Amino acid sequence: MLIKTDGLVIGERNMGESDRLVTVLTREEGIVRGFARQASRYKSRRFAGTQLLCYSRFQIFKGRDTYIIDEAQPVELFFDLRLDILRLSLAQYFCQLAASVAPQQAPAGDFLRLFLNALHYLSKGTRPLPLLKAAVEMRALSLAGYMPDLVGCRQCGCYEAPGMRFYPVRGELYCQECCQGKEAGSFLLSPGVLMALRHTVYADFEKLFQFTLSAPGQQTLQKITEAYVLATLDRGFRTLDFYHQLQMQEGNTGETGPKPLGREKNREEAEIAETAENQNQK
Ligand SMILES: [Zn+2]
Repeated sequence: MLIKTDGLVIGERNMGESDRLVTVLTREEGIVRGFARQASRYKSRRFAGTQLLCYSRFQIFKGRDTYIIDEAQPVELFFDLRLDILRLSLAQYFCQLAASVAPQQAPAGDFLRLFLNALHYLSKGTRPLPLLKAAVEMRALSLAGYMPDLVGCRQCGCYEAPGMRFYPVRGELYCQECCQGKEAGSFLLSPGVLMALRHTVYADFEKLFQFTLSAPGQQTLQKITEAYVLATLDRGFRTLDFYHQLQMQEGNTGETGPKPLGREKNREEAEIAETAENQNQK
């Protein structure tokens, strides 16, 4: 059967002398691991779109248990990502995350949209890296069926209270009173971080990446979302470790990035609003 679909290349590896095994997050068929025969031997235009981080239009033959890539025409190369090793390493983590949460042999349009948008912002450099990372992590897990319960305290149901805590292993919130003496393994949330965390899970997709948070808040948020990913999927990511290594070496947390709103907030406050940038895109 011949499948025509668009997709994002999230992994590639040479096999033998000239074949290439390509992992693609496709719209129609979810994660596809397909062979591109002779792709390395002939630098043909037919396989131009099989490079990592390439968004392409594919023609894929689906056999009983193999996929053969017949053609891959690039649509978007996200070339700017290759100019910055920190952003590239975060992009590679997104690829590994996609490969581990997106479905196989099922449509995955929501996942594709999430990761394409993330790469778009990552490549443009207009959003702080910790916020991008947190939004991608929480939304990807939510799409995969691991949506945490952030509506209110698990026990008393309050929406907001002093000293609210998030438990990554359970994906649950508790207020200070209800979790007294049971704080181990939890993260204390400031009101700003709580608002931002809820945003990553519940915001309309069109506004998912449009939020801001103070620099310390960004660091807390990304620790929390990362802990949620690692606890929920019960695995580590080589690409994530590499991203953190680079951050330490460069002393670059990526938190400030370019400032799309042209102003820095010192208070730990999430600002969830239509930004000028968002409005321009419409
Ligand atoms: Zn409570």
